[in-house]
Amino acid sequence: MKVLVPVKRVVDYNVKVRVKSDGSGVDIANVKMSMNPFDEIAVEEATRLKEAGVVTEVIAVSCGVVQCQETLRTAMAIGADRGILVESDAELQPLAVAKLLKALADKEQPQLIILGKQAIDDDSNQTGQMLAALLGWPQATFASKVTVADGKATVTREVDGGLETLSLTLPAIITTDLRLNEPRYVTLPNIMKAKKKQLDNVKPADLGVDVASRVKTLKVTEPPKRSAGIKVPDVATLVAKLRNEAKVIG
Ligand code: AMP
Repeated sequence: MKVLVPVKRVVDYNVKVRVKSDGSGVDIANVKMSMNPFDEIAVEEATRLKEAGVVTEVIAVSCGVVQCQETLRTAMAIGADRGILVESDAELQPLAVAKLLKALADKEQPQLIILGKQAIDDDSNQTGQMLAALLGWPQATFASKVTVADGKATVTREVDGGLETLSLTLPAIITTDLRLNEPRYVTLPNIMKAKKKQLDNVKPADLGVDVASRVKTLKVTEPPKRSAGIKVPDVATLVAKLRNEAKVIG
């Protein structure tokens, strides 16, 4: 059974991005880029399923500029068997990525696609859901535990106030939450091995997908600065301020 794992190249989570002066977006020139953290969790989960003998092949896919090859090499160093770059210089919005992944799923026929729950750059939280709709497959989002057996995936999800467990008939879509696993450290021997793994390059047109943007960004602004706090001498003053100034208690 094959598993497809889409991995996005994003600004590293340690980088504080700056809004461009014309408000058209954030400046990502010369900043460190890494694999989206939720996608690392997805690759780790797929690799563990392979190590457990449930899965036979893990295929990592990245859609974007040619440098996404580095992201794919990292996925292969964690444990993916091969990589596919869908190369495009265009801004790829979730719907475009979902269509590209659908075309690849039609071609590769995986039984499971494990995505991150969201990309930390656009915070869309849409691609997995859109892909499930395009394929007509069941989906379990925000997974904190996954088991696969007898043509079914059992997924525990973190929901408000507790855990929900779903049973999905394969093929299915799963998106990862933070507590699903802790991705392994990538070792040097595995980085070297990853360099020899197969990496294919396709273009959106090869997959017959129009990746034109459907959503236009009008403006990007910095969040408002937080004003400084104050210290209150005692609880009575705090309660008075909450009642009379902040008006958050009656
Ligand atoms: P989003 O819907 O943008 O928050 O992204 C959710 C998930 O979709 C990510 O964690 C990835 O697994 C996948 N994804 C989104 N964009 C891409 C991309 N350009 N290439 C590969 N996977 C992607």
